[in-house]
Amino acid sequence: SEKWERLTTGCPKLDMVLQGGIPKRGITELTAESGSGKTQFGLQLTITVQLPKTEGGFNGGAVYICTEEKFPSTRLHQLFETFPLVAKRKGKTVDLGKNILIQHISDVDGLKNCIEITLPRVIKAQKDEGKKAIRLVVIDSITAVFRGEYGQSGDIKTRAQHIRSIGYNLHKLSQKHDVAILCINQVNSTMNNRLVPALGLAWSNLVTTRLQITRVPPNRYFRVIFAPDLPTTNVCPYSITKSGVTG
Ligand code: ATP
Ligand code: MG
Repeated sequence: SEKWERLTTGCPKLDMVLQGGIPKRGITELTAESGSGKTQFGLQLTITVQLPKTEGGFNGGAVYICTEEKFPSTRLHQLFETFPLVAKRKGKTVDLGKNILIQHISDVDGLKNCIEITLPRVIKAQKDEGKKAIRLVVIDSITAVFRGEYGQSGDIKTRAQHIRSIGYNLHKLSQKHDVAILCINQVNSTMNNRLVPALGLAWSNLVTTRLQITRVPPNRYFRVIFAPDLPTTNVCPYSITKSGVTG
């Protein structure tokens, strides 16, 4: 079978764990506890996706779907300055920001609308205007939209229907428009040093590649939990620096 195209993380050790980076197929999920660098990882990929293919990128742009009130633009700009791969090319400073489109959403309807209507429209507009094609969509976080009305006490059946619909449409988007999808998820609980991602089976059944940052004090590890094309023994210690998440 044909090898899936992969997007470099910008870090050789993480790329080794992922055999090149995150796949441009299906849904890739990253789960970790708060403050572990999930957002940092997502931001980093919005930069590496802009790299030429010869350097592990997709020569494309990114859409960052943000559930926080404020998009972490300071952190993104820190990455622009310190990320060694792309900040400057051929002596010229590149405007990395113009290929990162930010969408704010706060609930299930907002996310569904974004995936089904806004994203296809944005992808087409980029094409029509001769801009870099969108090759990455980050959702930070998929968990946050299911708080509130679909929280713990919400209607579980309706919630599962929404989860399936969102997952289905993300797979469709990935296939139809040739984009990588990264969904950031939060932690429900911890079992034997393994994190249990939020949203249960309804969601995990839709995830193609599940990644985690787990903690075995004093170290933290970046690992593959499941993936159709990667061994789950793949793991490396990682840290967060000014240049992002690195091994
Ligand atoms: P949450 O679930 O709360 O959203 P998260 O997993 O998204 O958390 P991040 O916000 O990506 O976590 O990571 C925050 C961590 O990154 C903090 O520990 C912070 O100290 C570290 N960090 C952020 N910017 C830098 C930087 N420029 N240099 C070093 N570390 C940084
Ligand atoms: Mg975050």
